[in-house]
Amino acid sequence: RKKPLPKPKWMKETIPGGAKYAAIKAKLRELKLHTVCEEARCPNLGECWSGGETGTATATIMILGDTCTRGCRFCNVKTSRTPPPPDPDEPSNVAQAIASWGLEYIVITSVDRDDLPDQGSGHFAETVQRLKTLKPDMLIEALVPDFRGDRSCVEKVATSGLHVFAHNIETVEELQRDVRDHRANFKQSIDVLKMAKEYAPPGTLTKTSVMLGCGETPDQVISTMEKVRAAGVDVITFGQYMRPSKRHMPVSEYVTPEAFENYRALGVEMGFRYVASGPMVRSSYKAGEFYIKAMIE
Ligand code: SF4
Ligand code: SF4
Repeated sequence: RKKPLPKPKWMKETIPGGAKYAAIKAKLRELKLHTVCEEARCPNLGECWSGGETGTATATIMILGDTCTRGCRFCNVKTSRTPPPPDPDEPSNVAQAIASWGLEYIVITSVDRDDLPDQGSGHFAETVQRLKTLKPDMLIEALVPDFRGDRSCVEKVATSGLHVFAHNIETVEELQRDVRDHRANFKQSIDVLKMAKEYAPPGTLTKTSVMLGCGETPDQVISTMEKVRAAGVDVITFGQYMRPSKRHMPVSEYVTPEAFENYRALGVEMGFRYVASGPMVRSSYKAGEFYIKAMIE
């Protein structure tokens, strides 16, 4: 059995945060809100919660429970065919907590809920709508499942009042079956992103993310980027895949910071509104700061 690859020196562990970070963290304890940032021990927490140059603090929260109906090979979320039903009070409770938290940009994501008749899309849309009502100036990104390509589910979320509709293709076209759950595929995900563009009000951005280091070739990355751009997607991010445990898919390669930078420059050339690309980048990495900069340009 092959030994895992050693971690290169550019895979830094944590980035400290500033004054705003401390305030956001203190307030969070009061609110009893669970963030993906803390639960995944994300190394970018200091940067995201500080809001960077634009002061746009970003965090990610997960709704619809902690148990997914799918099982992707890279993912550390619990899996079950029959997760507990969603909490009907969640949209209102979560919206209130986020509205009073003091962030400028929130990424709301969820597990996949293949067990629910509407795939959880109604619950998702309600959370966005309630938050929007409570805090109209909040910037909202919904990072959603593929909803099995169901048009009405995509429409519901895309018209809920969000600023960014995100759905992750996760890997290049050629590796979809090796990396993602068998119910996911490239075409379905691209179709979801296209539908979102169709239904969302003008000015809404669509966004996707790709993990590198899963065994893809540079040519596959580039042709995937071209197809994503051709689907009208505005934003793409690239980060290094990190294995959550020994039960998960191994890392094939640690992609160099230079290669990440090349993909970033290429993405900008292709016409993406912004591209976040680097070893430590996650799909929500400094999303608020990047959003503001992209909208000013
Ligand atoms: Fe949170 Fe995403 Fe930033 Fe990590 S990258 S701290 S999960 S918002
Ligand atoms: Fe994880 Fe999402 Fe795959 Fe579920 S669908 S296993 S949450 S990556």
